[in-house]
Amino acid sequence: MNATKYMQTTVLRIMLFLLASASIIACGQQKSIDKNDKTTYMEYEVKKTEAEWKQVLTPKQYSVLREKATERPYTGKYDKFNGIGTYYCAACGAELFDSKTKFDAGCGWPSFYDPAKPHNVKEIHDSAYGMNRTEVVCAKCGGHLGHVFNDGPEPTGLRYCINSESLIFKPKGEK
Ligand SMILES: [Zn+2]
Repeated sequence: MNATKYMQTTVLRIMLFLLASASIIACGQQKSIDKNDKTTYMEYEVKKTEAEWKQVLTPKQYSVLREKATERPYTGKYDKFNGIGTYYCAACGAELFDSKTKFDAGCGWPSFYDPAKPHNVKEIHDSAYGMNRTEVVCAKCGGHLGHVFNDGPEPTGLRYCINSESLIFKPKGEK
């Protein structure tokens, strides 16, 4: 191998090494942003890592909104609650339900027959626990709210069965 060729090979090796290092660094950075929930992080307008959600939510809110837990029936603060006003997402503040559509379904969770702003609520097919259900999430942040069933009252015939922990109620006139 002559000197020129040796130099060329060395330069090529160095370049390859630099390229490889750069891509490793890039991957590392992406991982720290995405954390363990890449789909939720990328898909929704309100983007927070799981670590950031843990900082802004109470442990109970976090387990429902981010880990899809269900609060025990008849325990939520909005189950037997009839305030006049609006329910917002406890995670991001999106407007979700109006008290006008709230009804007592007797199931142990706050129930509504219609979202306040249809585009703020997203429905996802959920086959967890061998059941065929439709999960309801906040369309802005992806936070789990509850499930929607077809046994609600008129005019929609729907029952949005929502965890109190996912909601923040504000009386009418209060922003
Ligand atoms: Zn939200």
